[in-house]
Amino acid sequence: MLETDVVVLGGGPAGMSAALSAAENGSKVLLIERDGVLGGILNQCIHNGFGLHYFHEELTGPEFAHRFRTMVENEKNITVLLNTLVTKIEDGVVEFMGSGGVQSVKAKAVVLALGCRERTAGNISLCGTRPMAILTAGTAQKMVNVDGKMVGKNVVILGSGDIGLIMARRLTLEGAKVHAVLEINKTSSGLRRNIMQCLEDFNIPIYYSTTIFEVVGKDRVEGVYYGQVDENYNPIESTRKFLKCDCIILSVGLVPEMEIASFVSKSRVTNGAVVNEFYQTDKPWLFSCGNILHVHDLVDNVALEAKQAGKFASLYAQNKLPKRQKEIMIVASDKFSYVLPSKIFEGSGQVEVKFRLKEKVVRKTLVAKCGANILGKRFILAGVPGEMMSFVFDKNGAQKEINLNIE
Ligand SMILES: Cc1cc2nc3c(=O)[nH]c(=O)nc-3n(C[C@H](O)[C@H](O)[C@H](O)COP(=O)(O)OP(=O)(O)OC[C@H]3O[C@@H](n4cnc5c(N)ncnc54)[C@H](O)[C@@H]3O)c2cc1C
Repeated sequence: MLETDVVVLGGGPAGMSAALSAAENGSKVLLIERDGVLGGILNQCIHNGFGLHYFHEELTGPEFAHRFRTMVENEKNITVLLNTLVTKIEDGVVEFMGSGGVQSVKAKAVVLALGCRERTAGNISLCGTRPMAILTAGTAQKMVNVDGKMVGKNVVILGSGDIGLIMARRLTLEGAKVHAVLEINKTSSGLRRNIMQCLEDFNIPIYYSTTIFEVVGKDRVEGVYYGQVDENYNPIESTRKFLKCDCIILSVGLVPEMEIASFVSKSRVTNGAVVNEFYQTDKPWLFSCGNILHVHDLVDNVALEAKQAGKFASLYAQNKLPKRQKEIMIVASDKFSYVLPSKIFEGSGQVEVKFRLKEKVVRKTLVAKCGANILGKRFILAGVPGEMMSFVFDKNGAQKEINLNIE
């Protein structure tokens, strides 16, 4: 069996950044990627807007990926396996399948960076027929941007996740008519900048509290019945209308690729692993970062998070990471949809937590408290559920549960 210090699973931005950081911190690293090229989803994101925080430059997805790929190629302590599928992880042993058949590698630490996949029509129980041309936004993105194939001329987009918004603009630029974006919630899960730059700038309407009631079409999509939903997401039949279209694009959420690590504790909100401040799961040798941990809106944050996870995995492999000690839970109020990490070790020093809000918040203060003791505050000018936010506080003196509140 092969042996190494750290194995990183997945060669997207999270995997490349984690691998680089693990190597820079003194470990021998094996990076395993199922695709024929490193870069993950970035390779199909040909629009710009990447890298502003990490490289302080505006790059396209492939440019961002290329920078990391070059750094990985120049790092002698990283071995890359391409066209190789990870099939199993157990007690620090990773099983994979590539050109050499099925093989295993024993590692002192393993980093999960397998990203996520898109929810499909089946996942959301889309009603009506199942004709051709119902595609997830990522599949449509790959067909248009990588394969050079157009997906439809008259398009309806269901869901307003960032990939759907980006595809609304992309398909318009390619000559399609995007009739509407239908969003079942009262607000979009996408970034405000994408609503402005991808919909408003192109006069594409977005209808909130609205969904597809029924897909119509025998061979190919011929149209949709759509309308509004009530507070409980039930269709309001009196609002039912018909919209003619030949393609439906779904942007209705992402699912972390966690099946391979189903043995760790998972968050019921993010569906990713429960981790501590070192991105360490409840199996001390297993770390997690990027979209498999929680869905990020900016790839820059993915790279920064993975840099930390890679460093901690490397320290663990060298027996330098603090041993498990008393853990303190971080409990967020009902204004938050989740906070990550949800537990930290007792001690001193600064902790960065990431979170998403449940509802829009304007001019409020975020407060971290342990009992009556205030550990940190952050003023929020405006925050929306679509944007991942972060908050740094000092855990010094905290001995029991830390509460996060919006005041
Ligand atoms: C379809 C889609 C489009 C997106 N478009 C945008 C966008 O336009 N702009 C933006 O800012 N963000 C976009 N995102 C968000 C984007 O995913 C993140 O910003 C970032 O790419 C996440 O990085 P990651 O490394 O965690 O995951 P990924 O980039 O998904 O990388 C995961 C890697 O793991 C590999 N992998 C998975 N399973 C296995 C396995 N079993 N064995 C081996 N390798 C495996 C995959 O091939 C992939 O290379 C998009 C996401 C998706 C799903």
